[in-house]
Amino acid sequence: MSTTQYILALDQGTTSSRAIIFDHSGAIKQVNQKEFKQIYPKPGWVEHDANEIWESQLEVLQACVKEGGTGLDSINAIGITNQRETTVIWNRETGKPIHNAIVWQDRRTASYCDSLKAADKADLIQDKTGLVIDAYFSGTKIKWLLDNVDGARGLAKEGKLAFGTIDSWLVWNLTGGQVHVTDVTNASRTMIYNIKELKWDTELLELLDIPASILPEVKSSSEVYGKVSADILEGDVPISGIAGDQQSALFGQMCTKVGMAKSTYGTGCFLMMNTGTEVVKSTNNLLSTIAWQVNGETHYALEGSVFVGGAVIQWLRDGIGILDNASDSEALAKEVEDNGGIYFVPALTGLGAPHWDAYARGTILGITRGTNRSHIARAAIESICYQVNDVVKAMEGDTGKPLAELRVDGGAVANNLLLQFQADILRTSVARPTILETTALGAAYLAGLATGFWGSMDEIASQWGLDKKFEPEMENVKAEAYTTEWNRAIGRAKSWIQEEQT
Ligand code: ADP
Repeated sequence: MSTTQYILALDQGTTSSRAIIFDHSGAIKQVNQKEFKQIYPKPGWVEHDANEIWESQLEVLQACVKEGGTGLDSINAIGITNQRETTVIWNRETGKPIHNAIVWQDRRTASYCDSLKAADKADLIQDKTGLVIDAYFSGTKIKWLLDNVDGARGLAKEGKLAFGTIDSWLVWNLTGGQVHVTDVTNASRTMIYNIKELKWDTELLELLDIPASILPEVKSSSEVYGKVSADILEGDVPISGIAGDQQSALFGQMCTKVGMAKSTYGTGCFLMMNTGTEVVKSTNNLLSTIAWQVNGETHYALEGSVFVGGAVIQWLRDGIGILDNASDSEALAKEVEDNGGIYFVPALTGLGAPHWDAYARGTILGITRGTNRSHIARAAIESICYQVNDVVKAMEGDTGKPLAELRVDGGAVANNLLLQFQADILRTSVARPTILETTALGAAYLAGLATGFWGSMDEIASQWGLDKKFEPEMENVKAEAYTTEWNRAIGRAKSWIQEEQT
């Protein structure tokens, strides 16, 4: 295989569509990005215009190939990674969506989810899908569209409608309406896919009143699904890798062995641990999900998400204005030796895994007359680390094994103070790779494995390069004392508001 060829990754995120060209060594050759509209029809509702998603993705794809200067015939394959759970239903004949896409953040089906819980369906759904009942997942969004869009049920009965998460929608459009597929990672976020039997679950489809005729065929994460139609990209370029964004980042971080884990520090923090070829059922409020299916082998993962991670730094900047830039947080925090007894629980939108408290709110404890903005900045940075530690401890509780190393990525990992404190609190090494675009890289790797561009997972794993490793330096007793104080603080933040606000 020529080393002058490239893989094109499409990274379709919640706020922007990106296209990135990677070379054979995994280095980035070209990046293009375009933001698109967020639509908020009502409090708690979030939609995207599926056509705009497609058009923005197509635009960056074509610009990336043109501006990358690699030449069309040098693109070996395309990989797709995408915002997960976001739901599109379109008409198979016209190719037109019947409604805006319902985004993963959308809470409109929360009360229907409550009714499923009241009907004692939580165990059944966790057993089959690995998920907790929640409005995040696609299943109840599909039901809402079928129930609320005029004529949708009739058209579905006639076999005229197609459902897809964003990966399906992109593949459909890239292939000129020829291919209707998804991959196992995206299917595992729908709440209607049985992650053990690896098929759409008839009982759950009946429960949610979803006709099987609208569903895409579920494929592995690395195989040729189809070719890009010639009017989009000349040269029969295969689409050969698909994974949801967090799974793709886990793959891009090459967490391919059991027990390896990654944490992405962006707006929120997203943790995933590879649990191998068996589903690990969480007893600590985490999700079980499919990590990927490659060469006929399915890997599973435990997942936990923290709602407010880097966003707490944004709040220091935009909310109380003690920073000009997020990157100034480290220098500000370094002006003091330690947190001065300040604990900041950034439950600004409630608490995610493993606490799951929609009623918690942000809380700063321990303020004295000696407290200054540096202490607040330090406590904010440390709060990100405690929350990640809580999820890691839940993962260790579920697997019964200590984590050997946490691989990290996302915008906030530029902060060395944060990563050092993370290692200190976790009592585990924290490893920052040279390439931080792990989400897109994962999709590129999946695509290139399918076409033989890369020969094996081992070959790819050898490309993972370390930028900096942070080892625990703090004494154990001190780290434990900090964690004990954090636990006391989080207890104060929980159950603060009386009613869930959407
Ligand atoms: P997303 O993909 O969720 O938009 P990014 O991966 O781009 O997020 O990371 C941006 C987040 O990282 C912001 O919330 C920002 O406050 C935070 N951030 C950026 N730089 C730093 C830094 N040096 N220290 C701490 N947080 C940072």
